[in-house]
Amino acid sequence: MTHRILILGGTTEARQLAGKLAARTDVSLTLSLAGRTENPVAQGVPTRVGGFGGADGLAAYLRRTRIELLIDATHPYAAQISANAAEAAQEAGVPIAALRRPGWEPAEGDRWTLVDSVAGAVTALAAAPRRVFLALGRQEVAAFEAVPQHHYLIRSVDPVEPRLAVPDATYLLARGPFREADEQALLLEHRIDAVVSKNSGGEATYGKIAAARALGIEVVMIGRPTLPDVASAESVETLAAMVDHLLVGHFLGPAAERGV
Ligand code: NAP
Repeated sequence: MTHRILILGGTTEARQLAGKLAARTDVSLTLSLAGRTENPVAQGVPTRVGGFGGADGLAAYLRRTRIELLIDATHPYAAQISANAAEAAQEAGVPIAALRRPGWEPAEGDRWTLVDSVAGAVTALAAAPRRVFLALGRQEVAAFEAVPQHHYLIRSVDPVEPRLAVPDATYLLARGPFREADEQALLLEHRIDAVVSKNSGGEATYGKIAAARALGIEVVMIGRPTLPDVASAESVETLAAMVDHLLVGHFLGPAAERGV
């Protein structure tokens, strides 16, 4: 008997988890991507691309394709799809588990200014012109047009189109992971005095945070959004190990899943 699993992805961990589960002969896997990145990294497993049409659309997809387990392995800032996933799983009676990588904690020497949104980061830069590294998605950087007096270094996977309506911006195209030594060199080369970052967690993008600490540079850290309260694991290995239990819960019904 093969079990049908849908992984909501768009992260390195989702790809790793998919690779791990795809090796199982009793699992039939689909990985779902939003379709934001023009040339996504090859996923190596059956993949579908594009939105489902909200929570109802996702619930209908779960029923239509007879999914037995939904895994939310999206980025911690992709709050809409995570909310939709929790709602759809409940609506369709399908167990759900989330892969939630822990956020970074400030360490000795860090100069973090905590804000709770991109708008908060825009305000935190204040009035005096600064040299700012925006390590954010291309959808988010447009908000910084509100403070055009700063110089911006903008790094993204796909080109930022249209360009920002600010007089002084430099664009870099790159895909992580990024090493700390390279990040230090970048910050020095562009004489950066503020880094704006999400608290993504994980290793791949931590280099800029460690580099900023080493150079005494301020990091404007955007806090995480609230995510739904579902069963979760912090690592690919832990979540992969939970799969059998979650599938058994599905077949025995919700009472068994709750352990009653
Ligand atoms: P979002 O705001 O939470 O989601 C917006 C809409 O995009 C969702 O309602 C859904 O459309 C669709 N969607 C999102 N993820 C999907 C997936 N894996 N498969 C199918 N549809 C998906 O998401 P976002 O912040 O734009 O992120 C989009 C994708 O990029 C996510 O898969 C995420 O893992 C990845 N990503 C995000 C960030 C970030 O900082 N936000 C960083 C790295 C990677 P429908 O309502 O039509 O179903």
